[in-house]
Amino acid sequence: MNAPQTRPFDAARLREDFPILQQSVNGQPLVYLDNAATTQKPAVVLEALDHYYRYDNANVHRGVHALSDRSTTAFEAARETVSRFLNSPAAHQVIWTRGTTESINLVAQSWGRQNLRAGDRILVSWLEHHSNIVPWQLVAEATGAEVVPIPVSDAGDIDLAAFDALLDARVKLVAVNHVSNALGTVNPVAEICRRARDAGALTLVDGAQAVAHMPVDVQAIGCDFYAFSGHKVFGPTGIGVLWGRESVLEAMPPFLGGGEMIETVSFEGTTFNSLPFRFEAGTPHIAGAIGLAAALDYLGGIDLAAAAQHEKRLLAQMLELTADVPGLRRIGQPAECVGIFSFIIDGVPPADLGMLLDEQGIAVRTGHHCTQPLMSRLGLPGTVRAACTLYNTPDDIERLARGIHRARRLFA
Ligand code: PMP
Repeated sequence: MNAPQTRPFDAARLREDFPILQQSVNGQPLVYLDNAATTQKPAVVLEALDHYYRYDNANVHRGVHALSDRSTTAFEAARETVSRFLNSPAAHQVIWTRGTTESINLVAQSWGRQNLRAGDRILVSWLEHHSNIVPWQLVAEATGAEVVPIPVSDAGDIDLAAFDALLDARVKLVAVNHVSNALGTVNPVAEICRRARDAGALTLVDGAQAVAHMPVDVQAIGCDFYAFSGHKVFGPTGIGVLWGRESVLEAMPPFLGGGEMIETVSFEGTTFNSLPFRFEAGTPHIAGAIGLAAALDYLGGIDLAAAAQHEKRLLAQMLELTADVPGLRRIGQPAECVGIFSFIIDGVPPADLGMLLDEQGIAVRTGHHCTQPLMSRLGLPGTVRAACTLYNTPDDIERLARGIHRARRLFA
């Protein structure tokens, strides 16, 4: 496939590529600022899904008929697209999963059960999403290992000095997110991975919130595992990726058993398939993989550096237009962040504010954002989160700011 042409960045024009954003909600044109929970899908992704089911649908691998051949070719081409997107050395290091959560559970159950012993430590940061905490707690429970949190500052940055102090011979794995879904912090993952590697630990980066905002290069990051979800990067739900270092993946036992992941099966014993299929038991989400590849191709046609600048401007605009809202407090002020504005307003419960904004056609998220440890660290039950992405416009931010002012007045 030819590399897509990069158009000059224009958020308003990109917005037109997303059919769902063209509708009114509660009588107002939709302002969608819940992009950290899930992103909307451009028409090219919807068309790829439709085309697959309309013309190519068949199960993949081992088929002898034309549709199976087309389906397999598109499915494996999608893996190649993800491989290029991550700058992976090889496509067989890309394993399809249902999403970030399943990718992390795969590593925890396969690598973790094989490698962790009583007294070993897994470091995760206080910034983590529950899906980068609970899988480690489950495997720690089973193996006697311990999950130890890396401190974060009040601003929402990982405390690297405290991280260094925790990095001793007991640490077998360090698992951190690339970007925090609650505060927008962009973590220095290459530096974290370098320090972990020097201390003899493996690393997993939860890239769920990074993929829609910046180019990702697993070789430059130097991690052993990188996980992300298709739906956070303009692709379908139910499809995601675990990328792994080849030598590490090769040594790992299967996660789920069934079809696709075997080489031979007998009642005397079963042998397992090679990478990546050993970790892909059962019929995969073929359409999802193809839809995700269409989303990544779409992203490939966008100037991501310009998109990142655009998001920074939207964040600055949000801060400026809400600076005079009585009692409004931004939560976290990370040194480096994406366009996520997490805030509370004294005397206004986050859920009430979210509902008042919804009445005005503005979608934000409220609550703990699946980061309860972080919320308790910050002494908050939750926040309101407005999360921008490349199709949000200054108009969206003005609507949000007006909506917040109006809601605040109702609570005065
Ligand atoms: N990690 C982070 C940082 C996330 O933001 C999310 C989704 N909110 C996840 C993991 C889990 O992703 P999924 O639900 O797609 O598995």
